[in-house]
Amino acid sequence: VSGTVYLVGAGPGAPDLLTLRAARLLESADILFYDALVNPEVVALATRAEKIAVGKRCGKHSSAQAFINKRLVAAARKHDVVVRLKGGDPLLFGRAQEEIDALSAADIRCEVVPGVTSALAASADLGISLTRRGVSRSVSFVTPRAGAGEDASNWLRAAFVADTTVIYMGSGEAGKIAADLIAAGKPPSMPAVIVENASLPEERRHFATLATLSLAAEQLNGGPALIFVGKVYAEAASAAAHEHQEDDRGRAFAAA
Ligand code: SAH
Repeated sequence: VSGTVYLVGAGPGAPDLLTLRAARLLESADILFYDALVNPEVVALATRAEKIAVGKRCGKHSSAQAFINKRLVAAARKHDVVVRLKGGDPLLFGRAQEEIDALSAADIRCEVVPGVTSALAASADLGISLTRRGVSRSVSFVTPRAGAGEDASNWLRAAFVADTTVIYMGSGEAGKIAADLIAAGKPPSMPAVIVENASLPEERRHFATLATLSLAAEQLNGGPALIFVGKVYAEAASAAAHEHQEDDRGRAFAAA
């Protein structure tokens, strides 16, 4: 008989955003496979487990998915509790389905434990609701990142019709994203914000509009980042723009 593989959401970064169920499973894990984005403090909760790093940060080299699938199957044939830890929630841009399918094909029990996705952690830190009466009744989670053979511009439709859009894995091409949205008919003045390292001490926010999104993205420090677009960010974006103006005036004054 084989063990169970738990696909566990590690949350957005802050270790205390882990669920209790995830923490308990980590404590009882015999073997742990974790993504590079997962906080080391969370990995350390798996005190008894053999710990194996698999995926690296997106864009950098990552262990091939097929190889990860094989290792999960092999681990479940040897151990009772196999934990596969993924950043945020496993079922949002986490390539979980490939692992679920591989385990099911090998007749191995698999359970998913949800996690706090980075979009929700970033929204909590911003203190800005994704939905809002009279302003936003729909939210899209999208990524422009496409696999081989996929239509690269598919994400645009969902981003266009939603009142609020959250873009994962997009900060490296913020200029192109903004240009695509504007070309599709969104106003260049549409408010946006980029949140880097949500839930972590090194979190940074950059308010912008679609017109200035690529400038905002230039300020990023290389951490994982989300782009939020929608009218719900209007007040915060204009307050931030106002502060910048004050700063500039302050600098001009100091230089005079
Ligand atoms: N399953 C994850 C997403 C994996 S895709 C989740 O639910 O959050 C990786 C992308 O997630 C990154 O490119 C970035 O867009 C986003 N991301 C992950 N952690 C983040 C964080 N702490 N702050 C901002 N964005 C983050």
